[in-house]
Amino acid sequence: MTNQSFIRNINGRRVLTLLRKEGRLSRAEIARRLSLTRSAVTYLVEALLAVEAVAEAQADAGAAAPRDAGRPGVALSLNSAGHYFLGVEIGVQLMRFALVDMAVAPARTKTIELSRSPSPKQAIRHIATFLAACEREPGFHGRIRAIGVTVPGLVRSDGFVLHLPILGWRDVNFLALAAEHFDIPVSIENNANAAAFGEVYRYPKQSDDLILFLKLGNGCGGAAIIDGRLLRGTSGVATEFGHMRVAEGGPRCHCGQTGCLETHVNLAALARYLAEAGAKPEADPSAVAKTVQQGDAAAASAVDRLAHYLAIGMVNLTNLFNPSDIVLGGTLRPILELIMDALRREVSAGIVSGVKPPAITLSQSDLFECAIGAAAIAHHEQFDTTALSLAAGAVERSTFRQ
Ligand SMILES: [Zn+2]
Repeated sequence: MTNQSFIRNINGRRVLTLLRKEGRLSRAEIARRLSLTRSAVTYLVEALLAVEAVAEAQADAGAAAPRDAGRPGVALSLNSAGHYFLGVEIGVQLMRFALVDMAVAPARTKTIELSRSPSPKQAIRHIATFLAACEREPGFHGRIRAIGVTVPGLVRSDGFVLHLPILGWRDVNFLALAAEHFDIPVSIENNANAAAFGEVYRYPKQSDDLILFLKLGNGCGGAAIIDGRLLRGTSGVATEFGHMRVAEGGPRCHCGQTGCLETHVNLAALARYLAEAGAKPEADPSAVAKTVQQGDAAAASAVDRLAHYLAIGMVNLTNLFNPSDIVLGGTLRPILELIMDALRREVSAGIVSGVKPPAITLSQSDLFECAIGAAAIAHHEQFDTTALSLAAGAVERSTFRQ
């Protein structure tokens, strides 16, 4: 491979990334935004049209209006139906699947309920079944490029699942197993990392320098996305924000310690606070939120305790990372909706004086956030210029090589 083809490949990926973020642009606008010549962009776009990665946008296609309306030239967009990516969430007694298109929009989703949580081999069999069903559909046949998988536990950067107590997995080389069954690339990621990545990838913000994500439910997962990439740490297990110490004592966390943020802000903590306040013992966060809205003082004080500890965690994270945004999601969302103003107030008051408080927002994702996030990671690996190397064959194997 020559340096020239390497550079063309990088520029091809830059074009695709720009179109993912902007929707539609003319060739002239692409050239201007990427500081490339018109002829270079014409050449790149021809190659991307040939591999069905981009399409010339029809006047009435897509929800978004052309952003460069009035400028000469035909608008280009990602070719939604050109390529697909499969995301899989392996959870407790369930698996969720999301097949996303080139624009990272879900084309098929499915949940399967299981009587027991799947073993690694059973999980692979279920993935193979769903993949085969998709491949039988003419629109998807031969167009599924990669698979992303998530699990609720520690995953090393090389795809080794270290510790997954709730599924009973330990020291599983999942990617080696997957490689025996699939002839397309497979990646595996922690579920909070994937949900966070999917959220930021699908809803690009203007200021996305450093976004932190907290996923609150049975646990408290965390993720940090810096310049569009997950912060993984030395071996891939960074950003376990749920195990940050926020108190002395309290219930023992599954990590073996006490005082972890997770044990003060998860569903079990909410149930404990409700019991201690003498409030109605509701397990469903929506029901608790409704009780608070109806003026129940005991339930409101329980929710305030959760908000207090969550704010301590968010103050620590803000002082450590100086994030532009903190995004909150997960099954505790109905409770989070009630405490957003309190969190914003406490974080602003608690951080180092003079530091700009982050924007604190709720996640836009739904039940399929982990599966879609895993698919987004698989999608991203086709575009990320850091994934490219000059090693022989690296670019030749790329789906969108120029
Ligand atoms: Zn812990």
